[in-house]
Amino acid sequence: MPSDTAVPRIHPAVDHGVTAQARPDFAGGTLRCLCSADPVEVRISAQTAHNHVCGCTKCWKPQGVAFSQVAVVSRDAVEVTRNGHKLAAVNPDAPIRRHACNGCGAHMYGRIENTEHPFYGLDFVHTELSDETGWSPPEFAAFVSSAIESGVNPDRMGAVRARLKELGLEPYDALSPPLMDAIATHVATKSGKLNTLDV
Ligand SMILES: [Zn+2]
Ligand SMILES: [Zn+2]
Repeated sequence: MPSDTAVPRIHPAVDHGVTAQARPDFAGGTLRCLCSADPVEVRISAQTAHNHVCGCTKCWKPQGVAFSQVAVVSRDAVEVTRNGHKLAAVNPDAPIRRHACNGCGAHMYGRIENTEHPFYGLDFVHTELSDETGWSPPEFAAFVSSAIESGVNPDRMGAVRARLKELGLEPYDALSPPLMDAIATHVATKSGKLNTLDV
């Protein structure tokens, strides 16, 4: 149990500061699961976007922390290149079908199969599974309050939010405003309400 003054651990990729930098010419890399033998490999042939740390309970995360690090990339840029037979959907009924390795548990990619979903066409990936540097760095923190559901003491949430701000990862209890706006735009387009209100 950490003391009240201890700096909360967020995720190994950011706990020493967000030092990762996107390389302008970066064109992707290979994600490799944690199995020492016959690892699953997934080739990502593009730069990622909207990388963030996420406090939801569904994302795959390292042992002992409440946040994942997760980004999106076009599903066309995601290809399972080795040992795909070890992959299975964690929950085939979930909106995001997270494909996990049955050996080590790492989630190799999350895919949306519902073409009506606002984020259809984007896969969710954890670039920490890649040795390459140059991926887009985390930009914000999503679903921060949900960290309590993973076991964080509610009394620690002030310190968790303060630490996220200190790291430059603005804490949100849903997604970031641009992503929330993208979802709402999708809904308004479908309902015919888009741009009908003059405010
Ligand atoms: Zn594995
Ligand atoms: Zn999440």
